[in-house]
Amino acid sequence: MKFDNTYVHLGDAFYAGSDPAAAPNPGLFLWNSDLARQLMVPDELSRDMSALAQFFSGNRMLPGAQPVAMAYAGHQFGHFAPRLGDGRAHLLGEVLDRDQRRWDIQLKGSGRTAFSRGGDGRCALGPAVREFVMSEAMQALGVPTTRCLAVVTTGESVFREGPSPGAVVTRIAPSHLRVGTFQFFAAGADHEAVEALCDYTIARHFPELEEIQGNKYVALLDSVIEKQIRLIVSWMRVGFIHGVMNTDNTALSGHTIDYGPCAMLGAYDPQTVYSSIDGQGRYAFGNQPGIAQWNMARFAECLLPLVDSDGERALQKLAPLIDEFADRYQRAFVAMMAGKLGLATVAQADEALIGTLLDILQRRQLDYTTAFDRLGRSLQEEDIAQQLRADLGDWFDRWQQRLRGQEHTRAEVQQAMQQHNPVVIPRNHHMEAVLHSCQTSGEATAAEEFLQVLRSPYTRLPQTSRYQDPPADGDRHYQTFCGT
Ligand code: AMP
Ligand code: MG
Repeated sequence: MKFDNTYVHLGDAFYAGSDPAAAPNPGLFLWNSDLARQLMVPDELSRDMSALAQFFSGNRMLPGAQPVAMAYAGHQFGHFAPRLGDGRAHLLGEVLDRDQRRWDIQLKGSGRTAFSRGGDGRCALGPAVREFVMSEAMQALGVPTTRCLAVVTTGESVFREGPSPGAVVTRIAPSHLRVGTFQFFAAGADHEAVEALCDYTIARHFPELEEIQGNKYVALLDSVIEKQIRLIVSWMRVGFIHGVMNTDNTALSGHTIDYGPCAMLGAYDPQTVYSSIDGQGRYAFGNQPGIAQWNMARFAECLLPLVDSDGERALQKLAPLIDEFADRYQRAFVAMMAGKLGLATVAQADEALIGTLLDILQRRQLDYTTAFDRLGRSLQEEDIAQQLRADLGDWFDRWQQRLRGQEHTRAEVQQAMQQHNPVVIPRNHHMEAVLHSCQTSGEATAAEEFLQVLRSPYTRLPQTSRYQDPPADGDRHYQTFCGT
């Protein structure tokens, strides 16, 4: 692994140097060998479990790593916190993978830092395994996401509701730049720092903007919005509920980050919210596009002073991008849903066709994943078609008629639908059972078996059916907690 640490060159204000805490008895729990190969982890190291445990607990430093805690602020549930920062994470630096792509390597749960406030700097095994499994599932589903290289148990207990084994998860991300990183400096009116951060973000994620005519910070907002829209549309496609879309959890690169209280949608209902700390339903499934827009408005505020020295003129340049967000999102959403329904192009009437289906799913409390999987299969299996006609009424015939207007065979349409509609997702009750098994047995077998299925979410493997059943109670009593 070849470290090349550019973030720290931004200057002292952007981080606090910090060494990970010692882990008394580190043990490798999960290792991502595919990702390790991509990152060019040397083969000898990849085979040496005890060395991996030392490096990815933070006990030993990889050559070239320079551990820091990143500074950031953030709106949490709508309220601004000027100083959050990595309170339990250490950015080790950046590595270039075998395709010359740059990745941040971060340890999470690796001890206290200058930003820990009252926190213990630790992570429990359950949330660490959840992050590993969920992010691998999302990657395989085709959703932009940070990834996990390792989960290492520390040999120490952490105290949450009770004692739990402590763990360190190694997170890999295109970067850890967040809207909150910009807010940290914008709140202190440090325009120079915001500008440095913008230029750094452009160089790292949007190099094509370096050459453009016109104001590159307006273009930056436009590009970041585009990535957010793609991200949220992918979440809506697979039924992912992030649970804590605070601005400090909104990555500039447009990747899913922070799998704390996340969950998957079962029965279709836009109001679905599982997080115990989200009593108002701010981050409910159907609110996610609106919240992304709100977060983009917070990002735009940070850019105002760079766009024009006259506040009014700056606003005139940025506000239209925020105002257009909803329409732009809706177009992307309709195109995505058309894909789920096997429509090769979007026609005028399709938005209504999509809307009616979603209304029926909600009214009849039908499982989101199963419904679309069955629609695809109904093209070849008459018994499923009959059941769906009963479940969906006229709508089913309207859809069939719409498909007949296309020049594709039923087999072709089914194949196209299979690219958009997973047969299996990391359902909440299976995830909980897997975490429980990992915690009580101290073994990773249940997670490994789950991962094997989740890594092929569009293919029916022999063991896939073990994980497809919707929750017996429709997840009515399901609750998630922040991954602390
Ligand atoms: P999160 O909810 O994980 O996005 O974290 C929000 C903020 O709380 C970040 O500044 C974290 O670093 C901090 N934080 C979360 N858990 C802990 C912990 N156990 N110890 C210290 N800081 C934490
Ligand atoms: Mg966070």
